[in-house]
Amino acid sequence: MEDCIFCKIVKGEIPSNKVYEDDEILAFKDINPLAPIHILVIPKKHITSTNDIQPEDEKLMGKIFLTIKQIAKKEGFAEEGYRVVNNCGENGGQEVNHLHFHILGGKKLGTKIV
Ligand code: AMP
Ligand code: ZN
Repeated sequence: MEDCIFCKIVKGEIPSNKVYEDDEILAFKDINPLAPIHILVIPKKHITSTNDIQPEDEKLMGKIFLTIKQIAKKEGFAEEGYRVVNNCGENGGQEVNHLHFHILGGKKLGTKIV
């Protein structure tokens, strides 16, 4: 989608610090990390938010979570644990309107989500 910053990252028009890539999924380091580990995992195809996931995306969503697990293992923080966050819409605090999952870790995070 035009004017979508994450679509531009997928197309290579904006640089990113890639952690993982395949034909459907891209993971890269967040430009403004909120924890020592802060990785974003996105579908390459433009899906605006969780509200826009379609039944045909069921397999892709499962693959995204298996990819999160694999990234945690490969990057060496699976055992110590981490948090996966998806912000949806205005009340959810979503700033980039291309579906993404934050992986946060590298320190003991608070027990309260909000
Ligand atoms: P959200 O508030 O859930 O929409 O999160 C958007 C995230 O995207 C924020 O954590 C930003 O720091 C991050 N972000 C925005 N632009 C870039 C970029 N060019 N490269 C990497 N991360 C970005
Ligand atoms: Zn997009």
